[in-house]
Amino acid sequence: MANDTIAAIASGMTASGIGIIRISGPEAFAVAGKICRLKKGRPLGETASHTIHYGVVTEAGGSEDAVIDEVLILKMNGPKTYTAEDTVEIDCHGGPAVMRRVLSAVLAAGARPAEPGEFTKRAFLNGRIDLSEAEAVMSLIEAKNDYAMKSAVRVLRGSVRHKVESMRALLLTHIARIEASLDDPEHLGLDEDIDDMADNDEEAVFTIRHTADYLEPERMKAEDYRRALGEAVDSVLDGIGDMLAHYEDGRLLREGIKTVILGRPNAGKSSLLNLLTGEDRAIVTDIAGTTRDILEETVTLDGLTLLLTDTAGIRRTEEPVEKIGVEKARLEAEKADLLIYVADVTRPLDKDDEDILGFIKGRPAIILMNKTDSVPVITADELRQKSTAPVVPFSALTGDGLGELKAMIKDLFQKGEVTYNDEVTVASERQRQALTAAGDSLRLVRQSLADRMPEDFYAIDLTDAYASLGSVLGEDIGEDVVNEVFSRFCMGK
Ligand code: GDP
Repeated sequence: MANDTIAAIASGMTASGIGIIRISGPEAFAVAGKICRLKKGRPLGETASHTIHYGVVTEAGGSEDAVIDEVLILKMNGPKTYTAEDTVEIDCHGGPAVMRRVLSAVLAAGARPAEPGEFTKRAFLNGRIDLSEAEAVMSLIEAKNDYAMKSAVRVLRGSVRHKVESMRALLLTHIARIEASLDDPEHLGLDEDIDDMADNDEEAVFTIRHTADYLEPERMKAEDYRRALGEAVDSVLDGIGDMLAHYEDGRLLREGIKTVILGRPNAGKSSLLNLLTGEDRAIVTDIAGTTRDILEETVTLDGLTLLLTDTAGIRRTEEPVEKIGVEKARLEAEKADLLIYVADVTRPLDKDDEDILGFIKGRPAIILMNKTDSVPVITADELRQKSTAPVVPFSALTGDGLGELKAMIKDLFQKGEVTYNDEVTVASERQRQALTAAGDSLRLVRQSLADRMPEDFYAIDLTDAYASLGSVLGEDIGEDVVNEVFSRFCMGK
C-alpha cells in the first residue's frame, strides 16, 4: 500500500453542475477532516463508512469566514473503494475556480497532487483490479460509440481475467506434472519410451507425482501424456486465437474507421464533410485549392464511428503550400481504412480524376458522384468502367444519396462478423502483444511434441506462455510498463 495521500479533481475542468475532488490514502480522513466542517458537527473520522454528509469546505485551518463552498462529503473506508484505500470525495459546485480552490485547500491540508491515472494505478497495485481491468477503465472513458463501450465494460467486469486465469490454470497443471516427473528418480523420459517399450508394456509410463502429498502419483503412458498435453496446448491456443480475432474484428468499430475524402479541388469534399459532421467546420469555397491543410472530424453514423479526414486532394501541383497538403493527403490516404472519392459530375474526368481512380484501385473505396442536382456531363457507367468501387449518386448540396452512403459504409464494415455478443476480447495493444507472445510459445510446445523432444524442452516454453498470459493481467511486469500504462490516463482517474 502506498503510504501517502493523494488528491485530484476527478470531474472535467469545465463549468458544470457538480465538481468532484477525490482524496485517497491512509490520511484521507485526517486531510478532509481539517477542511470539511459537517453540518451535524461530528468529526469526519467518526462517521460510518460509505455515508454522505452535508457541510462546508474551508481553507485549511480557516475560520467561518474562510468557507469556500457548500459541499457533500462522501466517506468510504478501504478496502471497499475504487483504490482499495480510505477515500473521501467532495462534491462541490462545478466551476473551475471553485474546484481549484477546494483542491488547494485539500493539498494545503496534507495531500499530494495525484499523477494522471494514479487512483486506478493504486487500485491495481493494491490488487483490487488487474491490469486488463485497469486498461478497460481508460477504454471506457475513451469509448466513442456503443460497441467500444460494451467491450470495455465486459473487460472491466473481468472477462479477460477469467478467461486468462482458466488458460493459465490448465498450463500450470502441465508445468507441475512435468516438473514433478523430472524430479522423480523412477521417471522415464518421454523421448525414451518410444523405442524402448513395447506397446503392450504396462510399465511404459510417465510418472506424474502431484505436488500435493496426499495424492497418489499418477502413472500414465508417455503417448497418452503427450496427447493430453497436446490437447491442452491446442485448447489454450484456440482461446488465444479467438480473443485476438475479436480484437482485430472489433478494432475499426471500437476505434473508428479512418476515412479519407479524396477528390480534385472543387469537387465538393468540404461540403461532404460539413454534411456529415453537421457543422460548418471545413472552409467551403469555390476557388480551387483552398482546402490546403488536413481537417479531421469524428462522426458517428448509426453506431459506426468515422474518423474523417478531408484533404487538399491528390492533385499535381507546383504551388509549395498546396504541395505540402497534397503530400500529406497521399500519406493519409495510404493509411486509411476507407477512401471516399468525390467526383464532380458537372465536369469531365481529367488527369486528377484518373490519378485518384488509379490510387483507389484495390483499396476499400466508395465513389460519390457529387453535384447530381446540377447538369451532369459524366455518367455512373463511365465511372464503373474505370473502377470496381461502388458508385453512389450524391449531392452534398441537398443531401441526396446520404442514406445510401451510410448503408454502404455499414455494409462494408459490419458484415455481421462483429456483433454485440459476449465475445471476450482484449482491451489494448499491450494485451494483444502479450497474448501473441503466449501463442508463439505454445506453438513451440506443439512443435516439440511433434518432434518428440524431451520434456524439459517444452517445460520452458510452457512456462514462457504461462508468464506471457500473466503479463496480460499485469503479473510480474516491470515498473516501466506499469508507469507507461497509467501515464496515458487522464487526471483524477
Ligand atoms: P472541395 O474543394 O472539394 O472541398 O469543394 P467544396 O466543398 O469547397 O465545394 C466547391 C464548390 O462546389 C462550392 O461552391 C460548393 O457549394 C459546390 N458544391 C459542393 N457540392 C455540391 C453539390 O452537390 N451540388 C452543387 N450544385 N454544388 C456543390
